Amino acid sequence: MYIKAIVLDNFKSFGRKTKIPFYEDFTVVTGPNGSGKSNIIDAVLFALGLARTRGIRAEKLTDLIYNPGHEDSSTSSGPREAVVEVILDNSDETLERSQVINAAGSEDVGDVDEIRIRRRVKETEDNYYSYYYLNDRAVNLSDIQDLLAQAGVTPEGYNVVMQGDVTEIINMTPHARREIIDEIAGVAEFDAKKEDAFEE
Ligand code: ATP
Ligand code: MG
Repeated sequence: MYIKAIVLDNFKSFGRKTKIPFYEDFTVVTGPNGSGKSNIIDAVLFALGLARTRGIRAEKLTDLIYNPGHEDSSTSSGPREAVVEVILDNSDETLERSQVINAAGSEDVGDVDEIRIRRRVKETEDNYYSYYYLNDRAVNLSDIQDLLAQAGVTPEGYNVVMQGDVTEIINMTPHARREIIDEIAGVAEFDAKKEDAFEE
């Protein structure tokens, strides 16, 4: 499974609906400082519900909505809604149809060769709302997280390596670094289970 494309609409610096294609093996995004490269990664974290621990660069969720006068917040106007859709290529069936149906709470998930996870944040006069969709079915964050966890994508995981993570990993003690490798290799889970068993 891999990210095939991301569609950003009114998200951060993407004031117009923008579809960004990704390749299966390796994709590089280049551009001048401040052109929105990191905003693309923020969009992935936002849409997949991975943001809390890895940190999107925004104080509040509504800061993620495109603001034409970004540096001067008093000029905000127009639609106050941002949408990001992450399109995953699942043609290798990393996630089985039954798993997708289970997460969506509906049989009506279309062709699961493609898994589309969409998040919307909407600001009203005195509040804001956040919605998640899985192949156009309204779902909860936990449905998305449970589904992605079955494909090895978790908020605690290292699927996304943020700026600063590399230095952090270099500066770690060998033991802490080993723990990360265990986590990635998927053996950390068994260590935890072993400990639980010993306690019993
Ligand atoms: P660098 O090479 O310096 O890392 P970058 O390409 O990663 O740059 P980003 O950090 O993705 O750049 O983009 C920063 C830009 O996004 C800034 O110009 C900032 O004003 C703009 N921006 C952030 N939030 C919003 C928003 N809500 N509305 C409009 N523009 C925004
Ligand atoms: Mg950047």
